[in-house]
Amino acid sequence: MKYDVIVVGGGHAGIEASLASARMGKQTLLITMLVEQIGAASCNPAVGGLAKGHLVRELDAIGGEMGLCTDATGIQFRILNASKGAAVQGSRAQIDMDKYREYMRKVCHNTPNLEIYQDEVSNLLVKNENEVYGVKTKLGEEFEAKKVIITTGTFMKGLIHIGQSQYEAGRAWELPSSTLSTQLKELGLNVGRLKTGTPARIDGNSINFENMDAHGGDVQPAPFSFRTNKSEFKPTQYPCYITYTNLDTHGTITSNFDRAPLFTGQIQGSGPRYCPSIEDKVNRFSERDRHQLFLEPQTSMCTEYYINGLSTSLPIDVQKEMIHSISGLENAKIIRYGYAIEYDYVDPTELKHTLETKKVKNLYNAGQINATTGYEEAASQGLMAGINACLAIDGKEPFILRRDEGYIGVLIDDLVTKGTNEPYRMFTSRAEYRLLLREENADLRLSKYGHDLGLIDDETYAKVENKRKVLNDAVEFMSNEWFTSKKENLELLEEIGEDKIKDRALLIDIVGRNTVNNEKFDKLVPSLANTDSYLKEQIIIEAKYYRYILKQQKQIDKMKKMLKLKIPENFDFRGVAGLSNEAVEKLEKFKPPTLFNASEISGITPAAIDIIHLNINLNN
Ligand code: FAD
Repeated sequence: MKYDVIVVGGGHAGIEASLASARMGKQTLLITMLVEQIGAASCNPAVGGLAKGHLVRELDAIGGEMGLCTDATGIQFRILNASKGAAVQGSRAQIDMDKYREYMRKVCHNTPNLEIYQDEVSNLLVKNENEVYGVKTKLGEEFEAKKVIITTGTFMKGLIHIGQSQYEAGRAWELPSSTLSTQLKELGLNVGRLKTGTPARIDGNSINFENMDAHGGDVQPAPFSFRTNKSEFKPTQYPCYITYTNLDTHGTITSNFDRAPLFTGQIQGSGPRYCPSIEDKVNRFSERDRHQLFLEPQTSMCTEYYINGLSTSLPIDVQKEMIHSISGLENAKIIRYGYAIEYDYVDPTELKHTLETKKVKNLYNAGQINATTGYEEAASQGLMAGINACLAIDGKEPFILRRDEGYIGVLIDDLVTKGTNEPYRMFTSRAEYRLLLREENADLRLSKYGHDLGLIDDETYAKVENKRKVLNDAVEFMSNEWFTSKKENLELLEEIGEDKIKDRALLIDIVGRNTVNNEKFDKLVPSLANTDSYLKEQIIIEAKYYRYILKQQKQIDKMKKMLKLKIPENFDFRGVAGLSNEAVEKLEKFKPPTLFNASEISGITPAAIDIIHLNINLNN
């Protein structure tokens, strides 16, 4: 059978890639090793978080599944940084890992045009040296396709470390993908090695929660998906618990450094710096006498808890001793030990912005294979690879998000232009235009794309357009309305506890004050008091960011104009001070005709583009 698209791997990237492809009308085959592990959470039982929440909202706005699944299976919802500005808040949910898998598997099984097959893809079928036309599996099946998307996560040549013991696996006790990365290397792709780790899971019945602080969800939980009905969203929420390591725990760890694979040279791959193992933390921050740990339920049955903050690959006797030294865990029964895993990844600078590899035609990579870490980063890439594979089949323009349009744009641009030498995760600080790229406006930014692609239905899109109209009208009104210092206005400010004004101010600047909430808004803008309370919150956020947004919009317009600038044919890149040798070599090799084309070359950073821009202007 010949398919349009084959997706290799049913993790978070593979699910979104397969669903996007099938929903765009393409005959799609998802080949994955264990069907019941579709959507498995390899590590923490949580979706979202700072900047990662943005990715999930954006994915949802374009028509991805992760937000809907999280809303259906979440067991605790919180907005992180709730006291800070909307641009840096992040939605996070604990998920019931079993229900999450069940939901995703069911959706995949019931999506028209999508078939599922359990096997290991051992090889790509290649013709004309670099053109992929299908895959071959370990059981000897061959399937042809116009496009193949690889989303193998941590499985390629996966090697698990627990103390001195090692075994080959893609994830604990699951078979690794043993041959695929060798072939990718032979096809000329730059393949490297990375590492990540996970903590032990313990039996909920053996934990003494008495002296721990419970950490609950938000009183009014907000769903992830713009398509979830907010008024009906009332999930049962389960607490997490806080405990700490102590000097005894640290003593156990330090006295076993000589048995830690991280320090003995047994582990070669780089791990995520911002998500270090406990042995790494104790080593690097030896002055600290404790580290905070969160006990997070893995399911709504609360049978198993994940010890967030205690990721480790220490030997099992050391893991046992250190866990039992922690308050509340003295008698904890360990269900699964923590471990580290090393795996092969493909250098993401091998990719175009569409996530197709530059050297091998019809081959796309998405997810952890591209040196990222995290379910959200993987899912975002999966969606984009799936969409672009379909567009390419139809001979249509690719779907590439710019950095000013979404965190997904930032993620992919960072990966394909800069690459990374450690597992890449999203942070709000990576986004230059973060005041524009807020979670709550992801639908306004991106649903039009989802609708045009056929991934967002008409009814949902009509709601987004209605929201846009209400917000635009409100901003238009408030930014043209003067709030003067006449007597009743001054009395009103006093009544609602707001500072007085001297002469006059635009209404939008009064509403945009940090202290203005829904009730004050009703008094300041009575004509909009009957607006739906959720939309009212959005109007207030728009007002708060109004001035900053005007400024960022100007920068973006400038950037767009700048990227259109033509680079003179004989431009002397070597004569430009501040460009690295590597950048000069690439620019001389590819001779990009415009600054935009230059920005598409891997390793050419936004800073390099600025320097070239300046020099073109100086020479003209
Ligand atoms: P995965 O979710 O790994 O899915 C890959 C899928 O591909 C699997 O279903 C597998 O069966 C299938 N597959 C692989 N090879 C083949 C093949 N040849 N043929 C057919 N099917 C194949 N993320 C964080 O954000 N924070 C963390 O602290 C963290 N720690 C982690 C610790 C461990 C031990 C592991 C394993 C992962 C950790 N992660 C962490 C990463 C997170 O799990 C991944 O980023 C995310 O799951 C990647 O999604 P993916 O779709 O790329 O791959």
